[in-house]
Amino acid sequence: MVLTIDQLKDRLAHVQERIKDAAVRSDRAAEDIVLVAVTKTQSIETLQLAYDAGIRTVGENRVQEVNAKWPSFERRFEWHLIGHLQTNKVKYIIDKVALIHSVDSLKLAKEISRQAEKAGIIMPVLIQVNPAEEESKFGLASDEVVTLVKAASALPGIKIEGLMTIAPFVEDEAFLRQVFREMRQIFDQLKTEVIPGVEMKYLSMGMTHDFEIAIEEGANMVRIGSGIFGERQ
Ligand SMILES: *Cc1c(COP(=O)(O)O)cnc(C)c1O
Repeated sequence: MVLTIDQLKDRLAHVQERIKDAAVRSDRAAEDIVLVAVTKTQSIETLQLAYDAGIRTVGENRVQEVNAKWPSFERRFEWHLIGHLQTNKVKYIIDKVALIHSVDSLKLAKEISRQAEKAGIIMPVLIQVNPAEEESKFGLASDEVVTLVKAASALPGIKIEGLMTIAPFVEDEAFLRQVFREMRQIFDQLKTEVIPGVEMKYLSMGMTHDFEIAIEEGANMVRIGSGIFGERQ
């Protein structure tokens, strides 16, 4: 699907409107919700349109794609890595991304910290949780999260700024709410624990098919791709 700038602006405005309405339903304002526009599989041309439409925060799920697109935009976008990250690829993106959403092991946290120190930065990260515990997905089971957060909090090159989840792709709204609610509970629990090196700022949950439910249940960062850019090929 090739979008014109006007179509993209319309789609973006519609998504922003729905974000605002969901935020208001949960006693917050549009400004309280960060929109990460998911640009995976989108061309450089589409990214340029996204930039022209006012998008500044983009999410990519593959290291290779970040690297391929980076030279055309560099820091004009704030790049988020939202997909599974292999330890041996951390070094390729450490100086490019502003937030890594997908930390799901101490091994990965250690490597991010090590590479960040080398680069002279502290990398903000989110811990990926999988409260639905689907076997095919990445992410920790709920009871493993606090353990990982505590173990990783001491690492000098990372700063834990919240949690992320990819909810199962189902129509069952009650089940989705349950998943998001469980995330919110872990998020709030970690907030009250006050662990040095941890600041629970972001709860990254909600995609095109479920972002309104996620916001209603407490998400303050949503990752939306097809809702903005149309179905991916
Ligand atoms: C692709 C992707 C999204 C966006 O999915 P849409 O359904 O297109 O909104 C969000 N988060 C992650 C981790 C993704 O891989």
